[in-house]
Amino acid sequence: MTTSRTLTIIKPDAFGAGKAGKIIAHLEQDGFQVVAARVMRLTTAQAGEFYAVHNGRPFYAELVEFMTSGDCMPMILEKASAVVALREAIGATDPAEAAAGTVRKLYAESKGRNAIHASDSDQNAARESRFFFAETDCIRG
Ligand code: GDP
Repeated sequence: MTTSRTLTIIKPDAFGAGKAGKIIAHLEQDGFQVVAARVMRLTTAQAGEFYAVHNGRPFYAELVEFMTSGDCMPMILEKASAVVALREAIGATDPAEAAAGTVRKLYAESKGRNAIHASDSDQNAARESRFFFAETDCIRG
């Protein structure tokens, strides 16, 4: 089966609370393979650029502040239809509305502090992956 890749970030709420291992185990159990990973603290400029599409929305400043409030863990994940599969695995933006068994239902605190990011299209997955990683950071090229 053809695999594809997507970009995820374990956000500062979940990483800071020591939930990274459980979330990675959950995703591996679901068939995702980690092909690149790093731990970092985003600068305000990086967070602002990453979420530039939301610039002007009422929650933008809060989002940038949250994403720079602690360390986070960007990763590239591989699976068949990875983008769609990961969006399904993480659940709705607001954990109160997320389906049972999804990462956000299990590990997120609120709509803002919602544990995990996942790219929403193949094009954004490629762009967001380049934001954090070089080709040489990934296993199997
Ligand atoms: P996602 O694709 O499910 O992550 O959701 P969006 O692309 O709509 O929003 C990006 C991120 O902005 C979300 O994951 C939340 O962290 C944050 N966000 C979205 N809506 C709200 C909101 O109404 N309030 C707050 N505080 N944060 C929000």
